[in-house]
Amino acid sequence: MLVTRRVFLGMAAILAASPAFSESAPIPVVATFSILGDFVRQVGGEAVDVAVIVGPDGDAHVYEPTPADGKKLQGAKLVFVNGLGFEGWLDRLIAASKTKARVVVASAGVKPRRLEGHPDPHAWQDVANARRYVENVRDALKNADPARAPLFDAHADAYLQKLDALDAEVTAAIEKIPKERRRVVSTHDAFGYFSARYGIEFIAPQGVSTEAEASARDVARIIDAVKKEKVAAAFLENIVDPRLARSIAADSGAKMGGALYSDALSRPDGPAPDYIAMVRHNVKELVSALAP
Ligand SMILES: [Zn+2]
Repeated sequence: MLVTRRVFLGMAAILAASPAFSESAPIPVVATFSILGDFVRQVGGEAVDVAVIVGPDGDAHVYEPTPADGKKLQGAKLVFVNGLGFEGWLDRLIAASKTKARVVVASAGVKPRRLEGHPDPHAWQDVANARRYVENVRDALKNADPARAPLFDAHADAYLQKLDALDAEVTAAIEKIPKERRRVVSTHDAFGYFSARYGIEFIAPQGVSTEAEASARDVARIIDAVKKEKVAAAFLENIVDPRLARSIAADSGAKMGGALYSDALSRPDGPAPDYIAMVRHNVKELVSALAP
């Protein structure tokens, strides 16, 4: 009996000394795609355990959920989604998983762009909108775990400052490109918000989703526009087949730029492992192709 009691006291001392045991366990959450997963990790830190559904270089427009995704949802307390029609497969997955997780729309409060009646989901490409995503993530985490509210506030404040600096950095970098050269071709129309804030015009043969393929007529129209309007460069995107952008460049005489990260981060060892690195990489590619 005495031995048992000593063992118990010893255990209690170890538990009390170890922060991993004295605090509550990380909150299990799901983020639908890698960029949003980064925002949740930035705000949640060690206090959240983030599972991402559409990972690095993945295309969330045409994603097909797996049984493993249903399991991720079942165990989650919160599900962070982009909204604005980005995750067309999500409602069915949520229903099938029977999860009780709260769904948090990270883009809530963003002023949506509309194209041909559809909302444009790529709001994160404007850093001022990314700010709104982070605030929504922060508020949802505070709601889910009020005891850790000061931690989430501190992480969010620090990250929001970095986003403000990034926004200023992007504006300054784009200003160095002569106005008449601020026009490029990409594959799908993922940079409308970026364009509206920072002033580079993107021409894309595919719409705001990758679901529908560009028709031969769309491609011919773009090639004409590139020739007529002297578009400086065509860019690949990390989530779509590079052949379309390459053939437009070849047929129009536009210079081929590098790969832009539109809807997903790169793998950890790539050039865009987190949101801030992604925006910096995209701007670097644009400036190096367009600046004189
Ligand atoms: Zn997209």
